[in-house]
Amino acid sequence: MEEKCTFCKIIKGEQSADFLYQDESLVVFKDIRPHAPVHLLIVPREHIRSLNDLKEKDKDIISEMIIRATEMAKKLSIAQSGYRLLFNVERGGGQVIFHLHLHLLGGW
Ligand code: AMP
Ligand code: ZN
Repeated sequence: MEEKCTFCKIIKGEQSADFLYQDESLVVFKDIRPHAPVHLLIVPREHIRSLNDLKEKDKDIISEMIIRATEMAKKLSIAQSGYRLLFNVERGGGQVIFHLHLHLLGGW
C-alpha cells in the first residue's frame, strides 16, 4: 500500500467510492468522471504502479481483471451491445493514477 495513492486509499476505505464488486484480489468501482454511460475501474488490491511494472507473479491478477471485466459487462447487460477495455500506460498514454487499473467502458 502506498500512502498517497488514491486507489490504495479507496481500497483501504479511507476514501469513498461506488463499489460494484470486491473480492480478495481486486475491487471494481465506478469512475468518478465517466467517459461512457457505464465506466468502471477494475483495480487490483496490490499496488502495482503501471502495466510497465508487471512481473511474472502478476499473470494471475491480469487474467482475473480481464475475466472480471467481462463478468461485469454481462451483469450490467452491456456485453452484447459491446464495450471497450483500456489500460492507459504512463503519462504519454494518459495514465494519471499510478496504481494499475483496467477501464471498462460501454452502454452506448
Ligand atoms: P487513468 O487516466 O487511466 O490513470 O485513469 C484514472 C481514472 O481514475 C480517471 O478516469 C479518473 O476519472 C478516475 N478517478 C480518479 N479519482 C477517482 C476517484 N476518487 N474515484 C473514482 N475514480 C477516480
Ligand atoms: Zn495504490
